[in-house]
Amino acid sequence: MLIDTHCHLDFADFADERDAIITRAHEAGVTQMVTISTRVRKLDGLLAITEKYPSVFCSVGTHPNNAGDELDVQTEDLVRLANRHEKIVAIGEAGLDYFYDTQTPADQKTGFVRHIAAARETQLPLVIHSRSADEDMIEILTTESGKGAFPFILHCFSSGPELARTGVELGGYISFSGILTFPKSEDLRDIAKTVPMDRLLVETDAPYLAPKRWRGKRNEPSYVINTAEVLAECKGVAYQEIARITTENAFRIFSRMPRL
Ligand SMILES: [Zn+2]
Ligand SMILES: [Zn+2]
Repeated sequence: MLIDTHCHLDFADFADERDAIITRAHEAGVTQMVTISTRVRKLDGLLAITEKYPSVFCSVGTHPNNAGDELDVQTEDLVRLANRHEKIVAIGEAGLDYFYDTQTPADQKTGFVRHIAAARETQLPLVIHSRSADEDMIEILTTESGKGAFPFILHCFSSGPELARTGVELGGYISFSGILTFPKSEDLRDIAKTVPMDRLLVETDAPYLAPKRWRGKRNEPSYVINTAEVLAECKGVAYQEIARITTENAFRIFSRMPRL
């Protein structure tokens, strides 16, 4: 049993095949999935998917690459929306993306801090997207945690060891995607070895980043097993053990998500 803690089932890539994709996930042992919001304005589409499929849950938030388009969304809006529907189990994804610098750092930070405040208030986990922004991310996480703790996940972790260390010290979880399986990701696997067992999660970030076994194909939730296999190797434990632990961790951090 595994949980894909981060995918994007509302993307057009999946439109015609969602039934088949979710069936394949279940057949592979992926019992539950969290489909992650990238625009608050598209929340209704996400909710419709979660209402159709009992095993699919969702979040609410604005991806940093869309930050400038949703600067009207305030903390209280996020809190109100998050409490509107029982299938919303997280805030985000929000954060900083300086790799695709389509949005100004100032707009990204404004949105990010509002999402942090919403996570602090609701105590729902904040799904954090951080790319090429380690220094600013460490500073914001440290400063904001000092104002009051909030649960969070550093999703699709592909940053440096210092951000991983800071995340763990502040009580956060580290989620690994298919990037962990790539031949060139030796540094990332070294970081995975240092993350405590009780903070590890796995995800696909589908439709992006198919793991090595399916590299070049469109990603989907069933493929999360390959990431879990590589994570098990990193930690020197059996696959079944990593599956059990990451699933336990997922239910702990996604505290509103029921076991089906
Ligand atoms: Zn992301
Ligand atoms: Zn994502």
